[in-house]
Amino acid sequence: MSAVAPLVLIVSGPSGSGKSTLVQKILELPGTMLSVSCTTRPPRKTESAGKWYNFISQAEFQQMVERGEFLEYAQVFGKNWYGTPKTWLDRALEQQKDLVLEIDVAGALQVKQKLPNAVAIFVVPPSRTDVEQRIRARGQDSEDEIRRRLERSRQEMLKYSSYDFAVINDDLERAGREVQAIALASRCLMSRKEDRIREILKSFGG
Ligand code: 5GP
Repeated sequence: MSAVAPLVLIVSGPSGSGKSTLVQKILELPGTMLSVSCTTRPPRKTESAGKWYNFISQAEFQQMVERGEFLEYAQVFGKNWYGTPKTWLDRALEQQKDLVLEIDVAGALQVKQKLPNAVAIFVVPPSRTDVEQRIRARGQDSEDEIRRRLERSRQEMLKYSSYDFAVINDDLERAGREVQAIALASRCLMSRKEDRIREILKSFGG
């Protein structure tokens, strides 16, 4: 049986929409794996290298860009660079797992252009107040930064129509079930099952 290209699940949406928690929910499903991004952002106290990010220098990031090693990359908040190394597609293919990308809206649009079969989930925050509370709860940003993040979220909200699915993140239990359902249903898309069906058909004599 030939290896089927991995299912790529993009979990994206405005900054502060609570994407990470929903990514965790998808990763609870067997047969899924996380794409670990590279970033020039310094690690936060709670972050260890290689789990959520590979922390690299600006020069290293630039080299990877020049060598064409990123599936997509973007500068977030006009500051740090983030990118998805293409190698994750190879790993997912080798392991025959679904690859989950947690990336910003600009990155999601790039991936959809390059991989039209990737499934893009738009995580929608229930309100602006909710986003603001999330940002403030992290307690890491100045008032100026908070204002910038909120304006960015608004701009990102406007891109919703480029996505395949939308999950409103107002109830974690339900939103979690929804992202899992999207992942499971995407596995059953006819385009992903055709090879298998043809094989089964062969056992019927073609
Ligand atoms: P944070 O610095 O808070 O971890 O992430 C900031 C933003 O960058 C989030 O919206 C996150 O989803 C996004 N991000 C993380 N990794 C990537 C990536 O590889 N590519 C892109 N385009 N965005 C990313």
